[in-house]
Amino acid sequence: MKLKKGDTVLIISGKDKGKKGKIVKAFPKNNKIVVERVNIRKKHLRPKRSGEKGQIVESFGPIDVSNAKFLCPKCSKPTRIGYQLVEAEKIKKIRVCKKCNNKID
Ligand SMILES: [Zn+2]
Repeated sequence: MKLKKGDTVLIISGKDKGKKGKIVKAFPKNNKIVVERVNIRKKHLRPKRSGEKGQIVESFGPIDVSNAKFLCPKCSKPTRIGYQLVEAEKIKKIRVCKKCNNKID
């Protein structure tokens, strides 16, 4: 999986199509990501004491990584991520934008 926590993505399918958000959690094993404000789940919390109001807490559910496209922070276009091998002290794989070729941290 090429996406990781902190990346900004554009949702390309599902009920949140068109939304943009930051990945707050990534599950590379299942190809799932959790994106801010996407796949919002509302949970009603019961009041702890009588007389208090119950609360609604929002949480974000995981989505399939194929429903999201990486948004390049450099050219701000939805793009694919490529890899480049660079040789520093040892060979390192870095992520690059396929549109503008900029390095992505
Ligand atoms: Zn780019």
